[in-house]
Amino acid sequence: MTYDLIFRNTAYGDVAVSGEKIAAVGEVNENAALEIDAAGKWLLPGGVDVHTHLGLTVGENSTCDGWEKGSAASLAGGTTTVIEHISFDPAGSCRAALRQAFVNASGRSCCDYGLHAVAQRVDEELLRTLPAAVREGIPSWKAYTTYSDPIFGEALEELFRAAKEAGAVVCVHCEDDELLRAARFKLEVQGRLSPEYHAAARPAYCEARSVREVLAAAHRAGDAAVHVVHLSTAAGLHEIRHAREGGQTNITVETCPQYLLLDESLYRRGTDQALRASMSPPLRTPDDAFALWQGLARGDIDMIATDHCAFSLSQKEQGWNDFRFTPNGAPGVEERLTLILSEGVNRGRITLQQAVDLLSANPARRFGLTHKGRIEPGCDADLVLFDPAALSRFPSPPLHGGAAYSLYSLLPLQGRVEKVWLRGRAVFDKGEVLAHPGQGKYVERYLRSDP
Ligand SMILES: [Zn+2]
Repeated sequence: MTYDLIFRNTAYGDVAVSGEKIAAVGEVNENAALEIDAAGKWLLPGGVDVHTHLGLTVGENSTCDGWEKGSAASLAGGTTTVIEHISFDPAGSCRAALRQAFVNASGRSCCDYGLHAVAQRVDEELLRTLPAAVREGIPSWKAYTTYSDPIFGEALEELFRAAKEAGAVVCVHCEDDELLRAARFKLEVQGRLSPEYHAAARPAYCEARSVREVLAAAHRAGDAAVHVVHLSTAAGLHEIRHAREGGQTNITVETCPQYLLLDESLYRRGTDQALRASMSPPLRTPDDAFALWQGLARGDIDMIATDHCAFSLSQKEQGWNDFRFTPNGAPGVEERLTLILSEGVNRGRITLQQAVDLLSANPARRFGLTHKGRIEPGCDADLVLFDPAALSRFPSPPLHGGAAYSLYSLLPLQGRVEKVWLRGRAVFDKGEVLAHPGQGKYVERYLRSDP
């Protein structure tokens, strides 16, 4: 047996790569054409980000990076696979939304990718399409409790029932639409519409109430598989603990770096900063961030995604005088892995093993990326060589994505992504993305019966 590449002195022992796969882990006595001494470095499974919007269109606005730049940024940040939350179909057809998402991504991605389908309405079409999509390798569906097509109450329960029967997991954006409208109406009446009020328009209790109702609907549907996206508050986390203590087991939860490392004080540092940090849910308090770190350390939160959604500054400035006109979202796919390893592991908030589980293994397992997220024989050779000692900082303007800013450019970091491989091929080295659009493959996903 000859190998193409062997890493020596990793936490796994030797790691040998043959073609696109990890071929051997442990003690490898053979040699390879290329051998890399990883002593002093961390060899990690490629990152898996299950919440991106690389090719999103909302109303008049499309994300400014698109698949080409967004997926290049992803590789530069050590994330080799993303699962995209797709755009709404203007007419509300879940099948048309999926078809369009495939067209948008096709031939454009530098990293491997999957797609979450979107449930805009719980109707005949959805109930027919959902099981068919699961059979074809799309076992995850997104539902929103707010925006133009909120799903709640009986419709949500029906969606959970259909998903359970088909073997799918439903990812839910949890913000109670009724409470959001009330909060926003109050600000409108008071004339408080400058971007500094963005967070006040989406208070924490909106998330907590929605989490409670969403989990209850999944529970009534027979403990259907539910995934809470971008959890941002201590109150929301409390609802999740409560549901689990009540015996509901089929829940997973993601949070994002912005809710761990930034806080709502950004909205008070001038209009420019407030617009850059306008996202939904909004940034919260330092106490919320502390509770989320605790949730990660205790295993209450299962994974860290980004909700990467990059708009340009000129797009953001549509809301200069009125936050209702700002497209919400911020970039993060390039920053995620370095942020969590620097601010989580190097600062002792979580262990390296926990970080690997949160960034790669858990999201891959939950969302049916069978051959990704782990360094084991037979898995795809998606690998990251990380230097945990390098002092670094994200440049501004950054990086490889399309946004002209990073929310983290002022943060001094300890650690840097040095080199990245996607299915055995070097795709990032010495600050440069080596992959080309179309090199990333679409991945069909099939869930194991045990979540
Ligand atoms: Zn999102």
